[in-house]
Amino acid sequence: MSAVKKRKISQEHLGEASAPSTEVEQTSKTFKELGIIDQLCEACENMGYKSPTPIQAQAIPLAIDGRDVIGLAETGSGKTAAFVLPTLQALMETPQPFFGLFLAPTRELAYQIAQATETLGSTIGVRCVVLVGGMDMVAQSIALGKKPHIVVATPGRLLDHLENTKGFSLRNLKYLAIDEADRLLDMDFGDSLDKILKVLPRQRHTYLFSATMSSKVESLQRASLSNPLRVSVSSKYQTVSTLQSSYLCIPHKHKNLYLVYLLNEFAGQSSIIFTTTVHETQRVAFMLRALGFGAIPLHGQLSQSARLGALNKFRSRSRDILVATDVAARGLDIPSVDVVLNFDLPMDSKTYIHRVGRTARAGKSGVAISFVTQYDVEVWMRIEWALGKKLKEHAVEKDEVMVLAERVAEAQRQAIIEMKSFDEKKGIRGKKFGKGKRSRDDMDQEDG
Ligand code: AMP
Repeated sequence: MSAVKKRKISQEHLGEASAPSTEVEQTSKTFKELGIIDQLCEACENMGYKSPTPIQAQAIPLAIDGRDVIGLAETGSGKTAAFVLPTLQALMETPQPFFGLFLAPTRELAYQIAQATETLGSTIGVRCVVLVGGMDMVAQSIALGKKPHIVVATPGRLLDHLENTKGFSLRNLKYLAIDEADRLLDMDFGDSLDKILKVLPRQRHTYLFSATMSSKVESLQRASLSNPLRVSVSSKYQTVSTLQSSYLCIPHKHKNLYLVYLLNEFAGQSSIIFTTTVHETQRVAFMLRALGFGAIPLHGQLSQSARLGALNKFRSRSRDILVATDVAARGLDIPSVDVVLNFDLPMDSKTYIHRVGRTARAGKSGVAISFVTQYDVEVWMRIEWALGKKLKEHAVEKDEVMVLAERVAEAQRQAIIEMKSFDEKKGIRGKKFGKGKRSRDDMDQEDG
């Protein structure tokens, strides 16, 4: 796509409280050039959409041409408007009740799609209803009685209404969009989807969006689309296929033990261990050295020349383990490594992608393992959500890990002693430069 001009605009997800903020990539085309009618172009402008995103630029012209479309894209790509706009445009041409159905795996996503539909359709007076579980069936039935143009639903609740709400049918439906199909199928909505598809007319247009193309999604595609065209965008949330990513679910108090166990497992390979603070970086490096590993710390309290010196040692393989904070690692040309260990989880998925991108470069294979403790579950779920897939758990024999307990505890004691003198030196350095003592995290931030 040569026409893609990478202009980035910061956007928050609509109404998705837990979602990370995203940057929306835009193309140099206009919505009008894609064939969108003036009223909807105006609605896009009102939404602050200056130009189409790549997935919109690819999917919309095909959809307007009357084709069924499979879009490989995830949240943050602008996929919602990629199926909402063509549906609304067709609705404008032949308005009727129950014209379109948008299916989504979760309530939040359904509301988000409905909000986008209502806002984009505000210039053409579109009426929309949301049918999701956990909300009053009667109120939803009354809303259906008002004959909306578009139904946005999760499959379970839609099926309930199709079976129980008198006078409600989708016999005359013209457009169906299935959003996040992979998640829908992961959430066991397969049976409901089959039942829904049976009561929809075959003569219709269908759009199917999914972050990944699993065999389940492929069979849904065969069951629901006719002669579709496939479009996809490579997302910044995608990782390369040669990367084996997994996680380790462990108690916080055993992090050191599992780290040492993994480093033994990957002995002889080059590794980066990511931590969140200068203190942890230094402590982990001291501990590993006490155990005889060639570990070198890289963090924001080192001068630029010390950082480069550390990197050179790592590059020349005189040390094969780099312990680093994100901030220190940013902007430096860190060589490709075999293993990335997220000893501390990153706070957002962008940083995750940045970190794991240190391995599996240029077609080589690589391993990334993230430590998930009882305190990290929510952050980890958010990262998986942004990646659009569930990662595998790294298999470890607990007994073999526990064998290391004594030696690691001893190394840890030694690291604490070394940390004391490190902190003292740092205090002197702080005074010397007249800045006083700053918190470790502040330092990291400043150095970024
Ligand atoms: P989605 O991937 O559909 O969830 O969209 C992600 C975010 O991008 C939402 O906040 C949309 O409102 C926004 N968005 C969608 N299309 C565009 C566009 N063409 N220009 C700018 N922002 C957009």
